[in-house]
Amino acid sequence: MSADAVDLIILGGGCAGLSLAYRLAQHDDAPRTLIIDPRSDYTNDRTWCGWPVNSHPFQEDVRARWHELTLHTDQARTTVESRRYPYEMLEAERFYGRTLAAVEAHPSIKRFQAHAVDVEDRRDGVTVTLESGKKVQARFGVDSRPHPKPLAAPWLWQDFAGINVQADNLPQRAELMDFRVNDDPQTGIDFLYVLPYAPDQALFEWTRFGRPPTSPTILERKLEEHLHTRLGAGRWQALRRETGTLPMAPPTRTHGRSMVVTGAYGGAMRAATGYAFHAIQRWADECAAALIRGEPPMGAQPGRILPHLDRIFMSTLARHPERAPEFYRLLFENAPTDRLIRFLSGVPGVRDTLSVMNALPWAPLIGSTLRQALPGRT
Ligand SMILES: Cc1cc2nc3c(=O)[nH]c(=O)nc-3n(C[C@H](O)[C@H](O)[C@H](O)COP(=O)(O)OP(=O)(O)OC[C@H]3O[C@@H](n4cnc5c(N)ncnc54)[C@H](O)[C@@H]3O)c2cc1C
Repeated sequence: MSADAVDLIILGGGCAGLSLAYRLAQHDDAPRTLIIDPRSDYTNDRTWCGWPVNSHPFQEDVRARWHELTLHTDQARTTVESRRYPYEMLEAERFYGRTLAAVEAHPSIKRFQAHAVDVEDRRDGVTVTLESGKKVQARFGVDSRPHPKPLAAPWLWQDFAGINVQADNLPQRAELMDFRVNDDPQTGIDFLYVLPYAPDQALFEWTRFGRPPTSPTILERKLEEHLHTRLGAGRWQALRRETGTLPMAPPTRTHGRSMVVTGAYGGAMRAATGYAFHAIQRWADECAAALIRGEPPMGAQPGRILPHLDRIFMSTLARHPERAPEFYRLLFENAPTDRLIRFLSGVPGVRDTLSVMNALPWAPLIGSTLRQALPGRT
């Protein structure tokens, strides 16, 4: 295969790019594909958690599953259970290992280590310019590179710092959100996230929703202080660390002429939650099926109504950060769990959406809706 004229260019060989390439690699007649990414190595740089509302091909890479999740506020402890949709955790290194092996084994799919610096997106094809000046061409393109932009109200940044901890005295229950660490809601909405995946190991994560973004290093220090207090100084060991900054905002553009924008910055990430992995899997299934049929690639489908609901919810959070623990508690307590999970995962039916809306207090949501309807208000 010539490197400068292929059927498909995938910009970015991360979660979205490799998820798509993995599906294509299952077909002998896959389009001639070039994955462009500057990475020289793939490490265990993140864990992906969420609810498998649709099946995906990485079941064997799931490190742990939890049927029960707990939410803590100063007032209450709420535990929800789903037998149908266990919360699951995958480690990136197993995903990378599986997808890269499938790509390496396929004669029509190649990887090229390079930075893409420019994309010309025409009706008849795409031309990608690499940092070296070299140009590569394809009939279609899929762009999964991160596209960070400043965030305007009501959208918030989700910053987090996680540590995989080894200790003897770890909690044994999964805690999705523990708002008891949230000491100053005006700085940001802080919560702790704890996923015990072995008797002596757990992932602890300190998360903040806020604007402007907070350096994850600050959150990492807060997490370490918390671990010292909770587990005892010198009584825990950090096995692995991860940090991240995600925009809780909708994508600005996903479809070009011959190029679609996808991944966390291209419509696959749920604005109100930051979850993207399982939505990327749904997108990869559909996009690969279209390409195998000889059709153009498709972008992720965030849905028509959900982005509006996310905007109202984020606007409500931004106006009432001190009430965030109450809003999440009410969601956990009042919405039927499987309905809530489908809603949070971006695939609700009408009754799921109504149940979730009914679980929340109407007054602040109506206030946010009215403010959005007025010009210049968020
Ligand atoms: C630490 C961390 C933990 C997360 N945890 C979860 C979670 O638990 N659940 C969940 O649903 N989501 C989670 N997310 C959010 C989301 O699922 C991930 O960010 C996911 O990796 C997004 O996939 P992606 O393909 O859009 O981006 P990435 O996986 O980041 O891939 C983008 C790729 O683009 C490449 N690239 C960058 N610049 C260029 C360029 N100029 N040219 C070519 N390639 C380029 C990068 O090298 C990278 O490989 C997490 C994110 C992070 C950072």
